[in-house]
Amino acid sequence: MGTPRETRTEQAEAVVDRLEEAYPDSTISLRYSDRLELLIAVILSAQCTDERVNQETEQLFETYDGPEAYANAPQAELAEALNSITYYNNKAKYIRSACETIVEEYDGEVPDTMDELTDLSGVGRKTANVVLQHGHDVVEGIVVDTHVQRLSRRLGLTDEEYPEPIEQELMEIVPEGYWQQFTHLCIDHGRATCTARNPDCADCVLADICPSEKGDSEVDLAAGEPW
Ligand code: SF4
Repeated sequence: MGTPRETRTEQAEAVVDRLEEAYPDSTISLRYSDRLELLIAVILSAQCTDERVNQETEQLFETYDGPEAYANAPQAELAEALNSITYYNNKAKYIRSACETIVEEYDGEVPDTMDELTDLSGVGRKTANVVLQHGHDVVEGIVVDTHVQRLSRRLGLTDEEYPEPIEQELMEIVPEGYWQQFTHLCIDHGRATCTARNPDCADCVLADICPSEKGDSEVDLAAGEPW
């Protein structure tokens, strides 16, 4: 078991420093060329891997161009175009409905506020945060996906269980200039080393400050249960 820094703020700073050194090129892995494509890719990525989404959107973005094209696409046709993605029927509905709103209320432009974005179908705070950060250069919060959720708990940065309270706690301790990068660093480390089922603590740059480190810690703080 590692020994965390004295305060959560110091712990968050140490985590950011070390992960930044380990993953200097960390960034979003979804592919898109404009805000609408970003929005659609993020909607599709819920409970699905970015890799799968990128495979599917390569053709999708060639077939449909602009919000009218999605809004006017028949449900069955759009669902068929997405059928290797989890929950493709629902996601096709969300995309058609969100694009209809974008055409009717926002003159075809993806809105740039949290409230307007979260009013769109299929868009929660996490999706809105990604679109604001990468589409509009507006950083209002921290994107808490499954990797951020797991790593923050394992590293003793939060005891909260659900994304929104975790985000609130992280915003108090992660330096504001790193709110965007913190997510990408956690995702990279979560994929490479601190995986959900079998984290490689023996080869982890955070092992000496991680209270869940498997060496002699009995508990995975992410699950709150023994390893
Ligand atoms: S891999 Fe192990 S030591 Fe590293 S952050 Fe995850 S639980 Fe902690």
